[in-house]
Amino acid sequence: MAEETFMGVPRSAIDWSPRIDYSKCNYCMECVKFCPHNVRVKI
Ligand code: SF4
Repeated sequence: MAEETFMGVPRSAIDWSPRIDYSKCNYCMECVKFCPHNVRVKI
């Protein structure tokens, strides 16, 4: 069985966890408001 892909990349090869670069984050919380799948970013 072929491995599932996302945009041509094997899904298992993708790190799906959001990461925040805290040197750039200003805690505006737009990322929490924006996500249509309710992925909660722990800030
Ligand atoms: S709170 Fe989220 S959207 Fe706002 S600057 Fe930080 S990471 Fe980016």
